[in-house]
Amino acid sequence: MTAQVLDGKAVAAAVKREVAGAVAELGRSPCLATVLVGDDPASHTYVRGKRRDAEECGMRSFHHELADDTSQQAIEELIVSLNQNEDVDGILVQLPLPPGLDSEAITERIAPAKDVDGLHPHNLGLLVLNRTGMRPCTPSGVMRILHHYDVATSGARAVVVGRSFLVGRPMALLLSAKGADATVTIAHSRTKDLGATIREADIVIAAVGVPELITGDMVKPGATVIDVGINRVDGKLVGDVEYASVAEVAGAITPVPGGVGPMTRAMLMANTLAVARSRG
Ligand code: NDP
Repeated sequence: MTAQVLDGKAVAAAVKREVAGAVAELGRSPCLATVLVGDDPASHTYVRGKRRDAEECGMRSFHHELADDTSQQAIEELIVSLNQNEDVDGILVQLPLPPGLDSEAITERIAPAKDVDGLHPHNLGLLVLNRTGMRPCTPSGVMRILHHYDVATSGARAVVVGRSFLVGRPMALLLSAKGADATVTIAHSRTKDLGATIREADIVIAAVGVPELITGDMVKPGATVIDVGINRVDGKLVGDVEYASVAEVAGAITPVPGGVGPMTRAMLMANTLAVARSRG
C-alpha cells in the first residue's frame, strides 16, 4: 500500500483564503502583535512566516523584536501594554524563549482573550471543559486536516505520542472531546513497547521531537499517520515518522515539511480572526 499524502499546505491555503474572505467582510483589518526575543534562526523564520500569513489574510502585524538579554520584567511590561492596546487583537510570543526567561509567567501575562496561541492556562482550562475558547494552533490544525480529508475520528483508536502542553495533551483532549469521539491513548518516553501501543491505532499523532522514531513496522496497515515533528538533521527537515517505511503501510500520511507546519500557521490566522470578530 502507498499512503495517501495529506497535503497540509493545500489545506492551510484553503483556511487562509477563508480567513481572508472573512476579514474582507469584517470591515477592519485585525492586528496580530508578534513578540520575538533573541536570535534563534528558526524562531525568526517562523515569525516572518506568521507575519507574511497575516498580510496575505488582510491583517496587520505589530512586530516587537527584543535582544536575548531582555529582562523578564521588560517582556512582561510589553505584554501588559499590548493587552491594553485597543488596536491589538492577538498577541503571539514566539517560543521557545532564551534560557533564563520564565515562559510560563510570560504566557500567563497575555490576556486570555488575546491569546491566539491558545496556551494560556485559562484557554487550556476551557479546552478541558470542552467550552468555547482559543484552541492551541497545532492540535487544532491537525483536527482540521483530519476533517478536511474525512478521516473518521468517532470510535477510532488514536494514539498520541508526546504529552507536552503545547501539542500532545491538547491533541488528546481534542480527539477525545464529544463530537470527535476518538478513544485516545497518550504515549510518552516511559511507555513500554511503543510499537505495540502504536500498532493498535487507527490514527497516530507523532509529537515527539525524535527524528524518524516511528517506523513502518510500528504502524497498523491503513492507519492515518500525522507527523507533527520538526527536526533538523544535517540541515534537512525530518519528522518524527520515518516517511518512506510508514508510507508503505499507512493509509494516509502527512509529509514534513508541508504537513502540520503550515496548518499551525493557518490556525493562528483563524484564531486572530476569531478574536477580532468577538471584539467587533
Ligand atoms: P516536547 O519536547 O515538549 O515533548 C515531547 C514529548 O515526546 C514528551 O512528552 C516526551 O515524553 C515524548 N518523548 C520523547 N522521547 C520519546 C520516545 N523515545 N518515545 C516516546 N515518547 C517520547 O516537544 P513538543 O511537544 O513541543 O514538540 C514535539 C515535536 O513537534 C517537536 O519536533 C517540535 O519541533 C514539533 N512541533 C511542531 C509544530 C508544527 O507546527 N509542526 C509545532 C510545535 C511543535 P516525556 O514527557 O516522558 O519526556
